[in-house]
Amino acid sequence: MKTALRNFRSTFLAWVDSDAAVASADAGAQNAAAKFHWVRCLPFLLIHLGCLAAFYTGVSAAAAAVALFWYFFRVFSLTGFYHRYFSHRAYKTSRAWQFVFAVCGMTAIQRGPLWWAAHHRRHHLHSDTGEDAHSPITNGIWWSHFGWFASRENFPTRYSAVPDLARYPELVFLNRFDWVVPVVFLAALYGFGEWLAAAHPSLQTNGAQMFVWGGLISTVAVYHATFCVNSLCHLFGARPYKEVGDESRNNWLVAFLTFGEGWHNNHHRFPAAARQGFRWWQVDITYLILLLMSKAGIIHSLKEVPPEVIKEAGN
Ligand SMILES: [Zn+2]
Ligand SMILES: [Zn+2]
Repeated sequence: MKTALRNFRSTFLAWVDSDAAVASADAGAQNAAAKFHWVRCLPFLLIHLGCLAAFYTGVSAAAAAVALFWYFFRVFSLTGFYHRYFSHRAYKTSRAWQFVFAVCGMTAIQRGPLWWAAHHRRHHLHSDTGEDAHSPITNGIWWSHFGWFASRENFPTRYSAVPDLARYPELVFLNRFDWVVPVVFLAALYGFGEWLAAAHPSLQTNGAQMFVWGGLISTVAVYHATFCVNSLCHLFGARPYKEVGDESRNNWLVAFLTFGEGWHNNHHRFPAAARQGFRWWQVDITYLILLLMSKAGIIHSLKEVPPEVIKEAGN
């Protein structure tokens, strides 16, 4: 009973302050490291279950449009900011914009930028070996898709992998209290829906409907599209750069769903680049948006792919 209470207390603390999980992960969790931590993952499971409420709220054109908008906004925030900026530093920006990028990424409800980047850097260092937290080759497809982040072992932020990010206290704050942005985001969606119901009743929407479509269904779609980069893109697709020494693949379907991230074998060949579609036909929407942002002066010094690297793949 005492142990159960202590476990619940540490889980609750970790919900509030993600750094509080470090101690609990270190103490006595070694044999549980590779298991799905159901209690800790309740919010993740509830977001999925909550989608069923769409049968109760129904749908409207306004709610569907808002869901699509937030799908686009958040997939880009993960690919353009969490991945290409925070994980790979593929371009430069100001400290203020860096903070904005972190907040945008957090609306995707995939925890903080330091946690995300630290795991991702480890993935590149040890791709498809026992040290890779989410390899479908060593641990199977479901583990690579979502089991890995639901385990105690992978819950803490590995600050040693992200010293360049950990020197910004504002980023560390967002990373520790990683529930703040998602809660404000979901509450704002509800409020927006209620406002529309009052101000524009002809749209036939309301707070609950906006919450379910813009907040839950859209989030689940973002989850599984981006998780496919870790699962499907190390299993199915072409490998023009076989010499990278891992199982990363170029998968056009995942590239379509994730605005360019499916050109994953390219990315493993040259992870530092802002661009992942190396050929004209490898559409990389994320890169196109980053180019527009550099034209607008928001970001600069985008790292390019050396032409000789592109040629390695032949025609
Ligand atoms: Zn990979
Ligand atoms: Zn990467």
